[in-house]
Amino acid sequence: MKQGVFIERDGVLNLVRVERQHQVGPLSLEEMRVNTVAVPLVAKLKAAGRVLIGTTNQPGLSRGYQNRRELDRMHDLLRKTFDLDDLLVCPHDETDRCPCRKPNPGLLVEAAFKWKLDLDRSFVISDKWQDAEAARTAGCTSLLIDSPWVRKVHRDFVLPDLGAVVEKILRIKSTGRVMAA
Ligand SMILES: [Zn+2]
Repeated sequence: MKQGVFIERDGVLNLVRVERQHQVGPLSLEEMRVNTVAVPLVAKLKAAGRVLIGTTNQPGLSRGYQNRRELDRMHDLLRKTFDLDDLLVCPHDETDRCPCRKPNPGLLVEAAFKWKLDLDRSFVISDKWQDAEAARTAGCTSLLIDSPWVRKVHRDFVLPDLGAVVEKILRIKSTGRVMAA
């Protein structure tokens, strides 16, 4: 069983706009801005042998404002830039009540099956509470980058930036679930 690191797309792998206190992700390759600061940091996780899985809620696919082809173009760029093993998408709207829209853990469970990951020894990186909640349900350790979207849900660590998150993951050599200090 392998150790995975799940990385939320928007706000971690690519930059987002903020409108009315909400993150707005890119809808086309032209709008996509890779978070260049993250590139060498994510590379450290890859070099340490972790399976890297990007995850993202993209309700625009069901609501009709996200074109599938543009999404694929953006994701091709992210997969190449970050050497991701996979990039999993929930295409649903909240009214679909699917198991994969975060904070539900469906994407994590799907990846664990596909990549033979040990969820108890895997990590979730995000700047939003929904990913911490998905991590808790799936049994992963969550590491949030401090942001206006963290809120007060259970999470294992809140750290100032992605550099600190990566260092923390590389220092944890546990065989079981890590408890926050
Ligand atoms: Zn879904």
